[in-house]
Amino acid sequence: QRLVGAEGDYDDQQLEASLRPGTLDDFVGQQRVRAQLSLVLEASKLRGRTADHVLLSGPPGLGKTTLAMIIAEELGVPLRISSGPAIQHAGDLAAILSSLTHGEVLFLDEIHRMSRPAEEMLYMAMEDFRVDIVVGKGAGATSIPLDLPPFTLVGATTRAGLLPGPLRDRFGFTGHLEFYSVPELELVLRRSAALLDLAMTSEAFSEVASRSRGTPRIANRLLRRVRDWALVHGVERIDARAAGAALDMYEVDVRGLDRLDRNVLSALVGKFNGGPVGLSTLAIAVGEETETVETVAEPFLVREGLLGRTPRGRIAMAAAWEHLGLDVPDHAAF
Ligand code: ATP
Repeated sequence: QRLVGAEGDYDDQQLEASLRPGTLDDFVGQQRVRAQLSLVLEASKLRGRTADHVLLSGPPGLGKTTLAMIIAEELGVPLRISSGPAIQHAGDLAAILSSLTHGEVLFLDEIHRMSRPAEEMLYMAMEDFRVDIVVGKGAGATSIPLDLPPFTLVGATTRAGLLPGPLRDRFGFTGHLEFYSVPELELVLRRSAALLDLAMTSEAFSEVASRSRGTPRIANRLLRRVRDWALVHGVERIDARAAGAALDMYEVDVRGLDRLDRNVLSALVGKFNGGPVGLSTLAIAVGEETETVETVAEPFLVREGLLGRTPRGRIAMAAAWEHLGLDVPDHAAF
């Protein structure tokens, strides 16, 4: 588990549960999605009908689960949580759907990872609130239609493009979550610090926010590390220096890069003179699996303009030399 990884772990879940905003008003940032969603929910309340199905897309840790909880809360209905990987057979989905209560919100995380037969069952359930349950095999198989109570599906996916068209089209509303700005993350952190009873200066909030990779989950996790550090060092009011020292100790640098990210950049710059170099060669040079470099380190480095992907391989951008405190060579790409 990386400190700056956007995936959740058990400890995170404990902390997250206590820090999750419970209403749309408390949900920081994502103005557009928030406004659109608020309209969908208001309209459904005015009509007295179940709300349209909602698809939320965006990288991990930006608040999809939180939004699903808020949707149920604002509609005043129960919430059921499951995920694509947990639904391998159409029967798994049928069992969930048939046990929903009227108007319930069903949250399906990683909806793009559902099996094909389950996906096809979901089409019909979303559109007609009905499923056909097939019993028996081969020539003797019969399908039994089953009516479902109306429900609102909230699907979450890291990329809306991964979803087959027919499934995507059945959502009445798609909200795309963007990475958070530093001021937005500061607000997330201020709220969390108040809940955790932590005294911090404004500069300390900016220090943590700017190392949080645009992701509230990471911000909250770094805050927890800063809290530990302050406790052990007997610091009562955390200032920027203390926050910086705590995160330096955990090897999360001023731009939010951790050791793996920096190793990748250092290898690219030091061993391959900035590239281009093939991904697998680069991975060997840092002693990591190719997949780890590609899925864990690269997306953030590319987004930060530190690393580039070209048809001939990975290259270091000028900012990579700068970030490592080195002179930028003439051949560096900008
Ligand atoms: P995943 O898809 O990986 O489960 P997610 O996008 O569902 O991630 P959440 O679990 O909803 O992310 O959010 C992660 C944490 O970040 C939660 O603890 C939540 O408190 C916090 N958080 C997310 N978005 C916001 C926000 N807009 N305002 C305040 N806190 C937020």
